[in-house]
Amino acid sequence: GFESVGFIGLGNMGSRMANNLIKAGYRVAVHDINSNAVTKFSDMGAATKETPLKVAEASDVVITMLPSSSHVYDVYTGPNGLLRGGELRPWLLIDSSTIDPQTSRKLSIAVSDCTLKEKKDYPKKPAMLDAPVSGGVLAAEAGTLTFMVGGSEESYLAAKSLFLAMGKNTIYCGGSGNGSAAKICNNLAMSISMIGVSESLALGQALGLSASILTRVLNSSSGRCWSSDSYNPVPGVMEGVPSSRNYDGGFASKLMAKDLNLGATSAEEVGVRCPLTSQAQKIYTELCENGHETEDFSCVFQHYYSGKNE
Ligand code: NAD
Repeated sequence: GFESVGFIGLGNMGSRMANNLIKAGYRVAVHDINSNAVTKFSDMGAATKETPLKVAEASDVVITMLPSSSHVYDVYTGPNGLLRGGELRPWLLIDSSTIDPQTSRKLSIAVSDCTLKEKKDYPKKPAMLDAPVSGGVLAAEAGTLTFMVGGSEESYLAAKSLFLAMGKNTIYCGGSGNGSAAKICNNLAMSISMIGVSESLALGQALGLSASILTRVLNSSSGRCWSSDSYNPVPGVMEGVPSSRNYDGGFASKLMAKDLNLGATSAEEVGVRCPLTSQAQKIYTELCENGHETEDFSCVFQHYYSGKNE
């Protein structure tokens, strides 16, 4: 088992995940370039470290929760990065950021090219897992995230109790990069279905139907999906969802735009045509350019609504 856990990236998600590890009794060492984020943890008694390398030197396993691929790349391979010197104390590195599968795969190879500081019979080589999460800030806080994990199955099994200290579900997705691939494919489906439901409800309203009645029809028919029955985008149709509080909180449109960019780029790299991903990417990029980047992604419904009034 792991006793001391390093955690890098104490933002909206990472601060809550690290907090749950501390609550579960792990000894935690943290690092972030934002000193305010770090201070909160030193106040709670966590060890704070100046660089990723120093986190690695103090930990049996290191978790990263950073904005995007370039940040993860820097934290791993930068001058004071986790892999500096090619010799690692932790045998396992876990990245939970949402990044492209290609970067996850590249880094996983760089990790397995390193050696272990203390020679062990097992494992002989350090390993990396890509383990992005679904569930937003509230799930991170409540410890109910779902982890989708790529890498060796042995590493996954070794890390499972760690995941369950921060989440309620883990899904093993296969080799390195498959966790990252699963994450961007899920968000691609989610954004397209949200746009589809919004389009249907906007047209329905324009044809004289009330959004509540059309939602009842969708939810008892084949149009039903998470966007219609759990996260309805029309204000007033459901309580407790972002659409009923001016699209405040929830999953920001700019994060959706970022994930769609990852999806579109990956699709191009493997030569798969994904026309709806491209269209969704365009819609979310425009929403961000028009000042909606911090609003929940279900605000795409307003895109149709305002289009009608222009
Ligand atoms: P965030 O921007 O709130 O936090 C990122 C943290 O990383 C910040 O504290 C920042 O200072 C730190 N950081 C940046 N560069 C660094 C570096 N070089 N070294 C050390 N620290 C550095 O982001 P977040 O909302 O916590 O999201 C983190 C990841 O999780 C992203 O990849 C995001 O797509 C993904 N995600 C977010 C949500 C969500 O609802 N917020 C849900 C699922 C997945």
